[in-house]
Amino acid sequence: MVDDRQLQTQWYRVCSRLRAEIGDSAFENWVTPIKVFGFDGSEVNLAVPSRFMRDWVLANYLDRLKELWNGENSSVQSIALSIQPSSTLTAKNGERVVDEMVGLAPSQGTANVKPVNDWHSNGRIAAPLDPKFTFDQFVVGKPNEFAYAAARRVAEALSVQFNPLFLYGGVGLGKTHLMNAIAWEIVERDPSRTIMYLSAEKFMYRFVRALREQNTVDFKDQFRSVDVLMIDDVQFIGGREATQEEFFHTFNALVDQGRQIVLSADKSPSDLEGVEDRLKSRLNCGLVADIHATTYELRLAILESKAEKMRMNAPSKVLEFLAHKITANVRELEGALNRVAAHTQLVGRELTLETCQEILHDLLRANNRRVTIEEIQKRVAEHFNIRIADMHSARRARSVARPRQVAMYLAKQLTARSLPEIGRKFGGRDHTTVMHAVKKVDELRDLDASFSEDVELLRRMLEG
Ligand code: ADP
Ligand code: MG
Repeated sequence: MVDDRQLQTQWYRVCSRLRAEIGDSAFENWVTPIKVFGFDGSEVNLAVPSRFMRDWVLANYLDRLKELWNGENSSVQSIALSIQPSSTLTAKNGERVVDEMVGLAPSQGTANVKPVNDWHSNGRIAAPLDPKFTFDQFVVGKPNEFAYAAARRVAEALSVQFNPLFLYGGVGLGKTHLMNAIAWEIVERDPSRTIMYLSAEKFMYRFVRALREQNTVDFKDQFRSVDVLMIDDVQFIGGREATQEEFFHTFNALVDQGRQIVLSADKSPSDLEGVEDRLKSRLNCGLVADIHATTYELRLAILESKAEKMRMNAPSKVLEFLAHKITANVRELEGALNRVAAHTQLVGRELTLETCQEILHDLLRANNRRVTIEEIQKRVAEHFNIRIADMHSARRARSVARPRQVAMYLAKQLTARSLPEIGRKFGGRDHTTVMHAVKKVDELRDLDASFSEDVELLRRMLEG
């Protein structure tokens, strides 16, 4: 008989092999959404979110899936694919972190197998970690280099040096990724260490359940017996006194025993709302590392790295465009890239700036706003690497005159300002100068495709 855990393990193996065969991008588009529902002794039941996906998987991957699975478990004779609307899937799957105590199974593609509660492999209590969230998949840049270094240090240290490590930063900036990476690294270095990784919400939920079932002793034992305790999103314990109290004691007990604690939150310890002062000061005792908002350079580096992993042939203009436009956080950036990748792959169309903008038009429209001449000047100056002051200056060198003309041209195109008004904003130039600039840029665009694309890129960036 095959139990849930074995089924999950088999699925994981099948996935790893299939991923190697079909590549990350196809895998993520088509295999990741598949959920395993069960096995009746000869047939495996899988579900996908839509009819379209079912047809695609049937046509392209089903035979291979069956072969691979049969190789893992010879009693598998067939695979049934059903459609499970995505609302029910996202409800369970929206949260990346599956923080039940199950073995180190990847949540990738398997997260939705009926949760296997309290699965302790070799007595180890561990959480399923996302296999993609490792240190080598984490792109380091100015905004996150400190948090990254701190995380690495904690993961590699032989003895506890910083306790707790407290990582904080805005949503989608890589906190969960770094925590997973720490866990992977620790387990890899020493598989005997027990790690418990869960969200603060789950911690709370388990605590409340233990209270209700009157087995808080078990609860305490479970938490206090681990080598490394990692709690994600601790801001959620704010305002819940009993939970905070328990957390505080657990925390102290672990620190006293020299166990490592790693926490994350969306705010610094001092800024956590509804958290008792004594707990705050405890949280501040170790190493506090924040992840700052992304910069253009980091966004571009992340896009380049992800595009390469997906073996996506994305023109650098497209990646630059995305790095300029999608600034909220890395999650959104990833989402945009995945959408573009899935779309171009499906439609089999070449990826250009235009297709990219078409695919993401709703996302981009959300950032839409009125453009001012000042913004145009700033962006254009940045793009051509000249000083903003040169937009107003009398210098006529080609290296500044051309960008200035481009800015005038864009001001004419993107704002409702009249030629004299535009002229005034460019160091009091005459309206005929603006007219000339517009004409000149138009001519150049006809002659020089790469110049034209530059201008187009700027226009799209400004326009949203
Ligand atoms: P948080 O927990 O801070 O809300 P996550 O760790 O879930 O954010 O990150 C959101 C997504 O962005 C994840 O898919 C993660 O892999 C990715 N991500 C964030 N930062 C980076 C980075 N520096 N390099 C690569 N991927 C990143
Ligand atoms: Mg998170």
